[in-house]
Amino acid sequence: MKLKTVDYKRDIFYLMNKYPGIVSKVETEMLLEYLFNCAKLDLYIRDFAVNETIEELYDSLVERRLSGEPGQYITGRAEFMGLDFIVTKDTLIPRPETEILVNEIINLPSGKKRRILDLCTGSGNIAISLAKLMPQAEITATDVSEAALKIAEKNAARHNARERIKFYKGNVFNALVFDKNPKFDIIVCNPPYIKEGDFPYLQKEVRQEPEIALNGGKDGLGFYRVIAKEAHRYLERCGSVLLEMGFGQRQAIEDVFSSYNIFETYRVIKDFSGIERAIWINLS
Ligand code: GLN
Repeated sequence: MKLKTVDYKRDIFYLMNKYPGIVSKVETEMLLEYLFNCAKLDLYIRDFAVNETIEELYDSLVERRLSGEPGQYITGRAEFMGLDFIVTKDTLIPRPETEILVNEIINLPSGKKRRILDLCTGSGNIAISLAKLMPQAEITATDVSEAALKIAEKNAARHNARERIKFYKGNVFNALVFDKNPKFDIIVCNPPYIKEGDFPYLQKEVRQEPEIALNGGKDGLGFYRVIAKEAHRYLERCGSVLLEMGFGQRQAIEDVFSSYNIFETYRVIKDFSGIERAIWINLS
């Protein structure tokens, strides 16, 4: 009996293994899911025809990736808290570390209906995850970028959370002039915290993200100062602030807050690399 010869070039596994050591497995899957408009599992169980046109399209995606375009901008999607978010060059790409902020809030004792403000919402990843995971919470989200806010609203609608979140455009707390009762139990924020001077040294992928979402001013602390100065006007009596921090910024951030004599640090949380990544600060 003559065995049928397999044309390996027509096989999706041929594409998967075309750039070994150059494109990681995760990114290869991400690009192929996008190319075939399918779920990851489908890549392994469905039979996709791989012709020359498909191969060329795949090559062009790999080329974009290798030239420094983040995979999430190529595919227009990023995962956060197990949810799928639309991202564009107008929004920061949500990072896994930022899930710490959401996990902290959803793990608070339940029963209380909390009012939560998400400043610098970007793609809306924090606000929308909270809306999905805390059906009781009232959520408000702000961003200075109109383009980012549009994406956040789109994401909220995709996750059936549009009615759950009030979105306002404006710089940090200024956005709240349009809110009738801007008082919150928790203010959560992943502010821009990269020092201006560090920009030339950022990875080429990070440099493709919106500078406005990354730039924390000369010492990276600009947003923490604004929050420390104004948060008391927007917090309920026993309210708290939960902030993401950059590497090595914890002490400086605590100093900024403690200079007002109304705050105390409640808890510092490390990320999976052992870096102090989030801080709870309470009104004392
Ligand atoms: N809240 C978004 C995030 O955490 C955007 C943050 C930002 O633009 N600095 O990813």
